[in-house]
Amino acid sequence: MSKHYAVLGSPITHSQSPRIHAAFAKQTGIAMDYLAIEANHDDFRAKLDASNLAGANITLPLKEAAFALCRTSSTRALRAGAANTLVREGEHWHGDNTDGVGLVRDLTERHGLDLRQRRVLLLGAGGAARGVAPALLDAGIGALFVVNRNPDRADALADAMGEPGRVHARTWETLPKLGEFDLLLNATSASRGGSLPSLPMALAAPRSAAVDLSYGEAAIPFLAWARAAGCTHAIDGLGMLVEQAAESFLLWHGVRPSTDSIFAQLSGRADALVTAD
Ligand code: NDP
Repeated sequence: MSKHYAVLGSPITHSQSPRIHAAFAKQTGIAMDYLAIEANHDDFRAKLDASNLAGANITLPLKEAAFALCRTSSTRALRAGAANTLVREGEHWHGDNTDGVGLVRDLTERHGLDLRQRRVLLLGAGGAARGVAPALLDAGIGALFVVNRNPDRADALADAMGEPGRVHARTWETLPKLGEFDLLLNATSASRGGSLPSLPMALAAPRSAAVDLSYGEAAIPFLAWARAAGCTHAIDGLGMLVEQAAESFLLWHGVRPSTDSIFAQLSGRADALVTAD
């Protein structure tokens, strides 16, 4: 019998997750359906409970709320304090977070980046930033600087990593004094409104890689800045999107699908995509 899955968040109309999971199901021969469900903080729990789902992906702005409702959680969800993947266990939910492993897999395996000992700037301290920070540390980066519009959230993220020698919270105002970074990640949702705050060119060097976790139009401002600042690599979040989805698929079905084909399909029309996952 076909099991039901869905992605919940807001806005959700343009989510690519149903298409990605349908492609994985076809590739692996697993019978399932996967919907996109519009949900906000007020109706998230009710919609989740009413939907008879075996598993769910959770996106902006609900990842921290999703983590809070889980009876049990994986170590990586606990470290992130955010869940992007829920697995039904009887009457309860188990939470996991596949964003970080998805990002690291995309950067190291698809783009061939070596993250070891790298000096990393993370812009943002929301659910996505909390998901990727532990995985970057596990991948062996040398130092992580977290900068967020609301400085308290940057402090909280840095504290949660429990590595004060390696993880540092800084305010947006100090960006001009932070020096050059090997890897610069935009994990804010600022570009969705087209208003990414200005960034000093001095943050980037010719060897730097810049990554926007968004894709499509939302990734354009940061990646344009990165190219103008001289970064060697300017990477959007499409690869991370398909890799985190493959990791969720593995948790639900016990099979890790190949991601190359769906990545190629989505990349071919990347300009037409609207970030929604
Ligand atoms: P959240 O709502 O949890 O966090 C949003 C973050 O963006 C916060 O740090 C917030 O700062 C910051 N922000 C929002 N507006 C501005 C602004 N105008 N100026 C500066 N900072 C701003 O969202 P998520 O963390 O879940 O998602 C962040 C981005 O990552 C989204 O674009 C999302 O689509 C993308 N993403 C991509 C994934 C992929 O697989 N490729 C997976 C997950 C996310 P503050 O705390 O001050 O409000």
